[in-house]
Amino acid sequence: MRKAFISPAKYVQGENELLNLGYFIKTFGHSALLIAHADDVQRVKQQLEHTKNTYHVTIVESGFNGECSRQEVKRLQQLAKEHNCACTIGLGGGKAIDTAKCVAAGEALIIVPTIAATDAPTSHSAVLYSPEGEFDDYAYFKQSPSVVMIDTTVIANAPTRFLVAGMGDALSTYFEARATAHSYSNVNAGLPCGSSTGVGPAKGTKAAFALAKLCYETLLEDGAKAKIACDANLVTPALENIIETNILLSGLGFESGGLAAAHAIHNGLTSLEGTHSYYHGEKVAFTTLVQLVLENATSAEINQVLQFCLSVGLPICLADIGVTSVTDDELREVARKACIPEESIHSMPFPVNEDQVVAAIRVADQLGQQFKLKG
Ligand SMILES: [Zn+2]
Repeated sequence: MRKAFISPAKYVQGENELLNLGYFIKTFGHSALLIAHADDVQRVKQQLEHTKNTYHVTIVESGFNGECSRQEVKRLQQLAKEHNCACTIGLGGGKAIDTAKCVAAGEALIIVPTIAATDAPTSHSAVLYSPEGEFDDYAYFKQSPSVVMIDTTVIANAPTRFLVAGMGDALSTYFEARATAHSYSNVNAGLPCGSSTGVGPAKGTKAAFALAKLCYETLLEDGAKAKIACDANLVTPALENIIETNILLSGLGFESGGLAAAHAIHNGLTSLEGTHSYYHGEKVAFTTLVQLVLENATSAEINQVLQFCLSVGLPICLADIGVTSVTDDELREVARKACIPEESIHSMPFPVNEDQVVAAIRVADQLGQQFKLKG
C-alpha cells in the first residue's frame, strides 16, 4: 500500500518568538517579502523593527490587498523579483497565509500565524478566490512551508474567539482521520496526484493517525484551561499545548490523516446564509457532531464531544451557528453540496447519501439542544 506524510521543514513556537524572525530570514538571504494585512503589520510593528535591526535584514512591505487571487499573487511575485527577495513571509490569518503560499510556490516560505483559528498554516495547499471574493480553485504545492513560527504572546493577546474556533477545527481531526483509516481512503499528503510533483494517490501513516489522536486528547485535557488563559491574555502551559494542537497536531493530522464527513458537511452548510458570520472552526465543531451521528458513534463518545464543546463555548446545535429555522429543502441543498463526488464525505467507511446527511444534521441539532437543557 502506498502511504504519504507531509509536514513543514521546521515548526517553532514560543513567547516573543517574532523577535527571531530575522534569524530565519537570514537562513535564506538578506531580504524577505512580507504579505500581511496593514492592521496585522501594525500589531507587530515593534517586533518587526527589533528583529530587522538585530539580524540586519530587509523586510519589504507589499501592501497586500486582502484577497488571495491570481492577480494579487502575480503582482506580489513581481514585487518579490524587483526587490530581489530571498524568501516570502505570510503573517496574519488565512488569506495572507494562503497568498504567501501561492507567491512562494513551494519555495522559501515562512508562515507566521497571528491567530490560532484554523489548522491551515502547516499545509501545502491554499484556496484561490476571484478578486471579488468568489471561490476559484485549490492550489497544491510541492512542499509545505519551510518554517512555521508561532509567537504565543501574540496569540494570547488575540481575541479568544479565534482560539476557540481553532479548537473546533481541531476537534474534527481525529474523527475524520479515523473514518479515513477505516475506509482506506486517500489523504491530501499524497497530492497533487498525477502532476509533475506527485505520482499517485496515497493512504495515511500510523504517524499521522497518532498525531490526530493526540490532537483530540489534548483538547479534552487542556481546552478549557487554555480558554481561560487566553481570556486573561496569559501564556500558560495549557495555552501552549492548545496552540500546538490547533496548528501543528490538527494541521498534520488533517493533511496526512485525511478529511471525511465533518468538513464536507461544513462546506455544504455555507449555503445557509445564517452561518456566514461564524468562523470555519465554529461550524466544524457542529459538523463533527453530525459526522458522529452519521456513523452512529457511541453515546459515550458523543456526550464527551458535547461536554467538551460546552466547556469551551463551541456550537452544538444549528441555532449556535446562526440557523434558527431551516426547511427540508434548504437542508437538502446542504446535503447535496456535501455529497458531490469530489467531497471528502466519500472517505466515510460506508456509502453516504443525501437523505442520511439531512437526517444526521436534524438529529445532531436535537442532541445538542437537549444536552444544553440538561446543563
Ligand atoms: Zn478545517
